Amino acid sequence: MKLVLGLLLVALSSVSLAANSDEDASRYSKIVKELKAMETNHPGLAKFFSIGTNDEGTELYALRVSTSPQSMDPSKVGHFVVATHHGNEGGSTLFAMEFLKDLLKRYQTDELYKSNLAQMEFTVLPVLNVSGFNRNSRYEHGQDPNRDYPGPCQDKSTGKLKSIRTLMEFMGTRPFAAAVTAHGYIGNFTYPWGFYTDNNNTLDENRYREVFKKVAEVNGYSYGNAGDAIYPANGTYEDYVYWKHGSWSLLLELRNGSAKDVAGTVPAIARYFDLIDSSPSSKNQFTANCTRHQGPDLRRE
Ligand SMILES: [Zn+2]
Repeated sequence: MKLVLGLLLVALSSVSLAANSDEDASRYSKIVKELKAMETNHPGLAKFFSIGTNDEGTELYALRVSTSPQSMDPSKVGHFVVATHHGNEGGSTLFAMEFLKDLLKRYQTDELYKSNLAQMEFTVLPVLNVSGFNRNSRYEHGQDPNRDYPGPCQDKSTGKLKSIRTLMEFMGTRPFAAAVTAHGYIGNFTYPWGFYTDNNNTLDENRYREVFKKVAEVNGYSYGNAGDAIYPANGTYEDYVYWKHGSWSLLLELRNGSAKDVAGTVPAIARYFDLIDSSPSSKNQFTANCTRHQGPDLRRE
């Protein structure tokens, strides 16, 4: 009887595992469907496309929004949003989708020509870490994706994840004036440098501070330099894009990822793209010294 019960339990638990994985697989599929629907509903403004694949061969789908979305137009000001480096930060995925909805709405109002939206080209990648998102896990193949980028003080091997190599390659396909990376949950906006160095200030500290102050006024988040505002960490996307390409980099830490939090943050990020320079920085060189870090990675951004 015990054996029968045991077998029954094993059978039941494998049924529930199978049900879970099916349900999880649909979490990314649901986002992909929503992106496709945005293209279908706005063919003149939105293009659904893949930036490439991850280790599983899964396509990493993005949406390009512009007045000529069918192909990338380097004569426009390029802006980029990536969410869900960490698969357990679903608020960041929600943010990316709500940002897209709002953006498409704004493209259909007279704001399009009153502001500089018509000169811009947005690319939004809502889910970078697909397997983590489907399992609600921070990690991808046991790696923290937001420690897998090269940087001036990075002494570990990088680009272990194909998703990260794919994104790095994509970031080189055109100049991106600004790049936003969405995470949770602290409730702040930060800018480089965020790695281990004896001086967190970039040569653009004053410019960053000036813009971030105005962005933070929109939703009341705090702001500052990442190394000061949160624990330092090597190998992050937010440092990489600025260091490598000069893209004006904003790390969004949602407060709690609720619908209300996200709704209040979408206009703050819209303001960031409106205020920030229309070309990448040329003062993005790292000029200070790296410092060595021995302890555990305490950053949980
Ligand atoms: Zn995160």
